[in-house]
Amino acid sequence: MGKVIAIANQKGGVGKTTTAVNLAASMAATRRKVLLIDLDPQGNATMGSGVDKYDVPATVYDLLVDEKPAANVIQTETSGKYHLLAANGDVTAAEIKLMEVFARETRLRRALEPVRDYYDFIFIDCPPSLNLLTVNAMAAADSVLVPMQCEYYALEGLTALMDTIEQLASFVNPNLAIEGILRTMYDPRNRLANDVSEQLKNHFGDKVYRTVIPRNVRLAEAPSFGAPAMYYDKSSSGSKAYLALAGEVIRRAETATTA
Ligand code: ADP
Ligand code: MG
Repeated sequence: MGKVIAIANQKGGVGKTTTAVNLAASMAATRRKVLLIDLDPQGNATMGSGVDKYDVPATVYDLLVDEKPAANVIQTETSGKYHLLAANGDVTAAEIKLMEVFARETRLRRALEPVRDYYDFIFIDCPPSLNLLTVNAMAAADSVLVPMQCEYYALEGLTALMDTIEQLASFVNPNLAIEGILRTMYDPRNRLANDVSEQLKNHFGDKVYRTVIPRNVRLAEAPSFGAPAMYYDKSSSGSKAYLALAGEVIRRAETATTA
């Protein structure tokens, strides 16, 4: 059965979407069957996958609010060789409409049931807030991957996020695990970043991925070409780092199932 990983951090601009798109593409490049779910009304993961958010036949709105079958909403053509559940501005309305429905926290989980077996990995790109969409992601996921920048106050924010995840999990999904913590936009010449990184390892141990995502302009440019970095510049440090991360995520998943 496919592993569902929510990529979440209530802070904006920490690299959630960049991680979602590039990890999905790297996984797909290893011949895994991958679904990327864009849950952010900004639709950045959708655009970054080469799908025009202004011209999509269906979005997660159709899945969550109108309860259309996942198979009818999933787009199979993306620039990253994975499948996509798209998002755009309509998804803001989904968040509001969901308030009124029965079992509103578990809509996504139930919607994914029929397709979960088909995929090896399902990644969910969460919006930068802890709204009902994020709660749906947490309820549907097996684990949460937290991208973060190693800057001042990062640890405080992270501890708060971990508490929130635990609280959410206790009522919608008691089995929810922390998949890992990913250091993003890393600059090894920055002393503060190194200090925070050390503290992070002391505090969270092997939950911190060995792979570090460097600050790399190719990762920032790739979305304007509507493609993951590996299909824009495969020799870039950014795309290599996400390939390494995919390897690490796969190894963790394999160790977990054989343990
Ligand atoms: P979030 O989804 O958490 O809001 P994004 O992935 O959209 O964050 O990243 C925020 C901005 O930083 C974007 O403009 C993105 O292109 C850029 N960015 C993300 N990761 C990197 C990186 N490793 N190196 C350089 N720029 C990056
Ligand atoms: Mg984002």
